Amino acid sequence: MSYPNTQLFIDGQWQDAADGRSLAVFNPSTGQEIGRVAHAGIADLDRALAAAQNGFETWRAMPAFERSKIMRRAAALMRERAADIAVLLTQEQGKPLAEAKAETLSAGDIIEWFAEEAFRVYGRLVPPRNLAVTQMVRKDPVGPVAAFTPWNFPINQAVRKISAALATGCSIIVKAPEETPAGPAALVQAFVDAGVPPGVVGLVYGNPAEISGYLIPHPIIRKITFTGSTPVGKQLAALAGQHMKRVTMELGGHAPVIVAEDADIALAVKSAGGAKFRNAGQVCISPTRFLVHESIRSDFVAALVKYAQGVKVGDGRVAGTQMGPLANPRRITAMAEITQDALKHGATVATGGARIGDVGNYWAPTILTDVPVGARVFNDEPFGPVAAVQGFQRLEDAIAEANRLPYGLAGYAFTSSLKNAHLLTSGVEVGMLWINQPAAPWPEMPFGGIKDSGYGSEGGPEALEAYLNTRAVSIMNV
Ligand code: NAD
Repeated sequence: MSYPNTQLFIDGQWQDAADGRSLAVFNPSTGQEIGRVAHAGIADLDRALAAAQNGFETWRAMPAFERSKIMRRAAALMRERAADIAVLLTQEQGKPLAEAKAETLSAGDIIEWFAEEAFRVYGRLVPPRNLAVTQMVRKDPVGPVAAFTPWNFPINQAVRKISAALATGCSIIVKAPEETPAGPAALVQAFVDAGVPPGVVGLVYGNPAEISGYLIPHPIIRKITFTGSTPVGKQLAALAGQHMKRVTMELGGHAPVIVAEDADIALAVKSAGGAKFRNAGQVCISPTRFLVHESIRSDFVAALVKYAQGVKVGDGRVAGTQMGPLANPRRITAMAEITQDALKHGATVATGGARIGDVGNYWAPTILTDVPVGARVFNDEPFGPVAAVQGFQRLEDAIAEANRLPYGLAGYAFTSSLKNAHLLTSGVEVGMLWINQPAAPWPEMPFGGIKDSGYGSEGGPEALEAYLNTRAVSIMNV
């Protein structure tokens, strides 16, 4: 499938920016320009806002049964189109075709789960003190939403937000990533083809700071949802706070992987190694700080190095590729800097540690060992295919290291002891903890962080709650 130019989607129409501006889109595997994306200006945003207000009035007035039917059609379309959409995602983002297809198919599952939840947005009746009164708690859609989504999962990051908004009766304007615009456009097209009325979903691209600076304070927008880095999340949350807007923040992480003395090493390497190199490590829940009991450290490192050396790196469009390029040249610079810094701090490169070739953003799967906690890789989110390993003697010390950073998004642990599992469950300060298994971010489970990794959830019933106003209404029978 050839790569398309991407337009803005405003008031039910695909359109260029009013002033004709556009930005280049590059294939991270070749560095070549493959298309263009329209760059919205304030006039475009004003039209998108007016449409979102009208779209909200239309959508909230539609019974949940009808909204759910439309959403389920969109889920079916994503599944039908997964093979074609995957080719677009791989070209713009770099991930292997199999991962791109899995991301598209999982969008179908996410839309469907939220479509079914649309029926379960319940209020409640509360026994009154005066029997002449009917007391009710209502759950109403919060209103038009502004969503900001990043380039690492162009579809997955947008679909959770759109699905929660639509299931609760909200309209939404998505500011999707300029670097990976075609995936989000294909997602929006599925909703449009499924029958979502004009104005209910809008899609814009442009200057992220200009768009967030305009949409967040705008009186039409009632809720903000953002996925991206912690520093940007803090800025946007502060702006939203000034304007008393509801906020969901899904921010950075630095996931600890605690491998206890009694862990199944093969399981730990397969699960955490697989997760580490998925999407070339550009995943907010990617395992990053490997904390391994000293008694098994050398066996674990040897097995992890073997795993990393077996990962087939290449163009995501080539069959058999397990890891593609990094999504943009900024990540190559970041990988080089954190590797150099780790070496300066006395770490050892057990494998990788360098760019591959000089065409495309390829970085070798990298394992750094004996990494002191002062090294940057143990403090700043690496967001790339780099694992840093350090030993520990007591599980309590590993838990303390896991909790040392302000991040609290995902964590992993491997142990065959129930006692350790309970200690880890209560001790590790993260929003999502997976023990003896890879990440399982199913839509029915809460998805989100604590501490500096943000607040609010993008899965489970909590995800819908974030798009609802709770109102108390009391009627006296006269
Ligand atoms: P960045 O911090 O500039 O941008 C991160 C994301 O936020 C991008 O999608 C960007 O478009 C958006 N953004 C930036 N400034 C914004 C603003 N003022 N208003 C609205 N949106 C804004 O850096 P980057 O180089 O694109 O990404 C690097 C870092 O971002 C990574 O190291 C990682 O920590 C983080 N990141 C996190 C996720 C995630 O899933 N949580 C996804 C992508 C990037």
